[in-house]
Amino acid sequence: MGIAERLSILKEELGCQARLVAVSKTKTTEEIMEAYQAGQRIFGENKVQELTEKQPRLPDDIQWHFIGHLQTNKVKYIAPFVHLIHSADSLKLLQAIDREGEKNNRVIKCLLQFHIADEETKFGFDPEEATNTLLSEEFRKLKFTEICGVMGMATFTDREDQVRHEFRSLKQIFGQMKQGFFKDKPGFCEISMGMSGDYPLAIEEGSTMVRIGSLIFGERNYGSGI
Ligand SMILES: *Cc1c(COP(=O)(O)O)cnc(C)c1O
Repeated sequence: MGIAERLSILKEELGCQARLVAVSKTKTTEEIMEAYQAGQRIFGENKVQELTEKQPRLPDDIQWHFIGHLQTNKVKYIAPFVHLIHSADSLKLLQAIDREGEKNNRVIKCLLQFHIADEETKFGFDPEEATNTLLSEEFRKLKFTEICGVMGMATFTDREDQVRHEFRSLKQIFGQMKQGFFKDKPGFCEISMGMSGDYPLAIEEGSTMVRIGSLIFGERNYGSGI
């Protein structure tokens, strides 16, 4: 089965419940074009350098989503074109995004990444940190960032109950943040959760955006040096 066929099966399955971010990290521009020709327009990358190499070589109407850990000093490279940053995980990063938004005269959309997994390695706010950030004077000054929702990654485990519980907790956090800070902001509406291995659960728990790579493009080969 090819990329187009896998995409169409997945699209059918998702219906209009959740939007699909096709995660194209480590994949070539040819592979991305295959998905593009099949109608896919939203792609996700997790490395700044890889994204800035691919972006100019691919069609302009692609919406590029940044889904990886983002260093403040690299925001400038993606600020001119990035459509949505899923991984805003500190006030410092939000401030950097805001500065680059101002320089580019555009409002950059972001999701607040929350740490929901039972793993040390996954980045993100906890609800208290996020609350403190959203209450802070520094946050209120931001003019060139728009917070559009939340993102999280579940633990990499076969234990379905645990993964479901983590997704449910992200949905709850979304509700708390909406209630506390974004009640009058209809643009705060996204819950980015679910990957190849766990997206059906994420959708059952209220995902609005799934980030799927290997199920579309096949397994990643990190050894190939691209
Ligand atoms: C790689 C990646 C994905 C997609 O993973 P798959 O298992 O290939 O679907 C989703 N989200 C993030 C943040 C990623 O880094």
